[in-house]
Amino acid sequence: MSTKDASLASVIESLRVKQDKPLKLSDHDPAATLGWDKEAAKLELEDVKVRIDVLQQRLFAEEQRSLLLVLQAMDAAGKDGTIRNILAGLNPAGIKVSSFGVPGGPEVQHDYLWRVHAAAPSKGLIGIFNRSHYEDVLVVRVKQFVPKSVWSKRYDHIKAFEELLDDEGTKVVKCFLNVSQDEQRKRLQERVDDPEKRWKFRMGDLEDRKLWPEFQEAYTDALAKTSTDKAPWYVVPADRNWVRNLAVAKILLHHLEEMKPQLPPEEEGIDGLVVT
Ligand code: AMP
Ligand code: MG
Repeated sequence: MSTKDASLASVIESLRVKQDKPLKLSDHDPAATLGWDKEAAKLELEDVKVRIDVLQQRLFAEEQRSLLLVLQAMDAAGKDGTIRNILAGLNPAGIKVSSFGVPGGPEVQHDYLWRVHAAAPSKGLIGIFNRSHYEDVLVVRVKQFVPKSVWSKRYDHIKAFEELLDDEGTKVVKCFLNVSQDEQRKRLQERVDDPEKRWKFRMGDLEDRKLWPEFQEAYTDALAKTSTDKAPWYVVPADRNWVRNLAVAKILLHHLEEMKPQLPPEEEGIDGLVVT
């Protein structure tokens, strides 16, 4: 293993939520720098993106498997920013971004996994979920949209669903962007103050903010109960955008490398062919 690969593996390991181990989110510092330097991290992100680009092309060419990156977080933790930053420069034809808001229309007439399963990436693609089926054990639990007897069964459904995806060729990787309560306050204030950002702010964001401890508890449970080898969770420090971006990019790279996507076999007779 090269030094670069070893350092990638150790960062991944330190952020991964371990299976069957109690999780304390308060042990995870949202402002952590992971020992990185800001300027060097920006350069490294470019290098990581080049490597992701090569593997994305191979995954696309192979057309046998896909990768689903789930992003979950409190408001203003940077889900949109992460997507914009990491995906810039990749081939848009190979990416499918799906955002999940309050369910409506046919969504409410089906089970909660229906809409997410329909949005899962097809073979060859990298899918990104901006929020996901986890909302159904997070906001739905915290705001008591359904009774405990209903949401408490969902962790098992979710594990089985993600296992199905994995068995059928979709690698599931999940990142919780861990922002601090104070950083969220600053960012929500920025949204209020900046006319270009105000569209992102909803009064309801303040209600969710008041329920911070309840959300932390729900996140802790969701992450601890559903982080598996097949579909691991990562707690990504999100108070500093540059740390968040590099960490998510490295997690994505690590899993793409693990998948080892292969170019399809060449047609006979191409080797040495001279095009005239
Ligand atoms: P945003 O991602 O900030 O544009 O907001 C989307 C909103 O939809 C958030 O407040 C989520 O909590 C909410 N949401 C997403 N999925 C669900 C769900 N299954 N049930 C209720 N609310 C949801
Ligand atoms: Mg929002």
